[in-house]
Amino acid sequence: MCGIVGVYNHKESSTLAYLCLYALQHRGQEGGGIVSFDGKKTHLIKEHGLISDIFSKKEKLASLKGSIAIGHNRYSTHGENLYNNIQPLQFKFQGADISIAHNGNLVNLKKIRERLEKKGTIFQTTSDTEYFIHLFSHAHGKTIEKKFLSAFQQLEGSFSVIIMYNDKLIIARDKYGIRPLCCGRINDSLIFASETCALDLIGAQYEREIKPGEMLVIDKSGEHSYKIASANPKHCIFEYVYFSRPDSKIFGDSVDKIRRKLGKNLAIEKPTKGADRVISVPDSSNTTAIGYSQRSDARFEIGLIRNHYIGRSFIEPQQQLRDFSVKIKFNTIEGVLTNRKIVIVDDSIVRGTTLKKLIRIIKKTNPKEVHVRIGSPPVKYPCFYGMDFPSKEELIANSKSVEEIRKYIDADSLEFLTIGGLLDSVSLPRDCFCTACFSGKYIEPIEKEDK
Ligand code: 5GP
Ligand code: MG
Repeated sequence: MCGIVGVYNHKESSTLAYLCLYALQHRGQEGGGIVSFDGKKTHLIKEHGLISDIFSKKEKLASLKGSIAIGHNRYSTHGENLYNNIQPLQFKFQGADISIAHNGNLVNLKKIRERLEKKGTIFQTTSDTEYFIHLFSHAHGKTIEKKFLSAFQQLEGSFSVIIMYNDKLIIARDKYGIRPLCCGRINDSLIFASETCALDLIGAQYEREIKPGEMLVIDKSGEHSYKIASANPKHCIFEYVYFSRPDSKIFGDSVDKIRRKLGKNLAIEKPTKGADRVISVPDSSNTTAIGYSQRSDARFEIGLIRNHYIGRSFIEPQQQLRDFSVKIKFNTIEGVLTNRKIVIVDDSIVRGTTLKKLIRIIKKTNPKEVHVRIGSPPVKYPCFYGMDFPSKEELIANSKSVEEIRKYIDADSLEFLTIGGLLDSVSLPRDCFCTACFSGKYIEPIEKEDK
């Protein structure tokens, strides 16, 4: 998962890119960067860490001159957390500067890699994003547009990408539109971003989504739209469940609205009789939990407080503290929990570690009962399209039944939303979504190497 941004024709392009990345920080916290073009050359700053830390000094942003900029927040799903893999990646091609920011995960790359390496291609990173540029450079087309089109047509998997080619911006989305990507405007400036919450922050007017299978080229001559390929959309439903911010609009719908509906459907499908309070696991399940309480007799309360200031590392006391890893992030509110029948609504269970630890600290407040309701079906299958779902073996629902998971997390009851309830929550037709992590139905067959 990652967040991407592109700014075209704005005198403060890098500052706008920075602000957009700030709004998209939830999509990746490992590293980030911005590259700008000043009409003659590019300027790049990228680093490990959060955007506000990378650009903590004004001079850094000021050094990214020019009216075009692209940026990226990294969450590694392909390739390790190495400096070289932090984006935007930069390349030189026949005297031009190419920079690329990619959200998604390419699949079935083995054959392409073999073919490219036979031709002498030297891969510089362990990130899949490099393939766009190598395929572009080897493509036969006469124009830049044709060459990029050819590269996009050869690649499978998910990609929302923003490329800066000197003073051109090339924006593309895979034919299934797996990851979100939208476009907004401030007067004559165009802004591209993973989610609309980035446009809101900088006061850009939302225009539209980049269409699945669309390549858009922006340059001095205007905006030109090309078709990479067409297919029935397969948007990632997990963007609604967990990943996107509730204040964003993606795949044509408000995330808040869909997430509330997930909670409502969960309450209808899996009610908790006689519950006193509904609580969320902040922040990711807040909206789902509110939806649940709206369709239940129990009212929503804040029973867990999250510390928002946890950096990548903290100094642990030498003496081992029990439950330290969860307590550093969450604390309980006794007044809400003690002697009550509690429903904890979370958005998803992946490894099951969060809830196991949370229930242990919740039980210290002596609640009457602890019931768990999950706003999505059990995650049973790995995602090859960019969600950080580990191997089958690490997914608790792949090897354990619901009853076994309930015992493992030590809840009084555990229930999940069904796939039917999940698909009933979205507005687009059901077949417009990829549900592979829940259903095992992948969009295309995945080669062994990728598995
Ligand atoms: P678990 O503890 O079961 O492994 O993960 C579930 C928790 O992690 C949930 O609270 C959910 O909000 C969050 N979560 C779900 N998917 C992801 C993901 O792809 N990345 C990260 N960092 N957290 C996730
Ligand atoms: Mg969570």
